[in-house]
Amino acid sequence: MAQLINTKVDEAIQSLIKTAELTAQYGGDEQKNPEIFGKILEQLIGVKNDVKKADKAFSTAKDKQSIAQFDQTFASEINKQPKSKAKNSDEYKRIMDEIRTLLSMNYEAVASTSVVEGDDYQMEMEISDIDPLTKRRMTHPVKNTVCGHYYEKSTILESIQVNPRLRCPIAGCGNNQFVQKAHLIEDPVFRMRLQRRNENEQN
Ligand SMILES: [Zn+2]
Repeated sequence: MAQLINTKVDEAIQSLIKTAELTAQYGGDEQKNPEIFGKILEQLIGVKNDVKKADKAFSTAKDKQSIAQFDQTFASEINKQPKSKAKNSDEYKRIMDEIRTLLSMNYEAVASTSVVEGDDYQMEMEISDIDPLTKRRMTHPVKNTVCGHYYEKSTILESIQVNPRLRCPIAGCGNNQFVQKAHLIEDPVFRMRLQRRNENEQN
């Protein structure tokens, strides 16, 4: 149950990020207010925190003999747990950073550079949109801050979990540090460019 709710909340958070992207593109200035997004995000992360609490309380209370005992244990377990502030969580900060970047982006500038054929072509040559691990097109790229190379988020995270001594998989890369989660950052601008390119190709 907890798993299902968390998946749904994560989907809602992804939609919120997508909405920030669309707002930056088509919205008015009063809509490009990160606070509006912050409030929604706070609620969504709050739901996940509540689910976590309820889950924990349930596992303690589930063996109680009577419903009354169950209720009592469940309630006291919930109260025992510290009030977690969604706003102070790393998740909140990370996603708000991403939303702020998206909202402040100058889409006209991005759009006009992709019209300039030469520039865009050059950029495509310089930065590949292919994930070096799966050789598939990236949909959610993350950037290695040490060497500047991009990987698909889910595959690189999985790969470094399996092999913590993984180095940057780009052939000839001079970065000989093991790839760490702390080296990987979101790059909404690049991600948007990939999305646009995919959309253009489908049309
Ligand atoms: Zn590299």
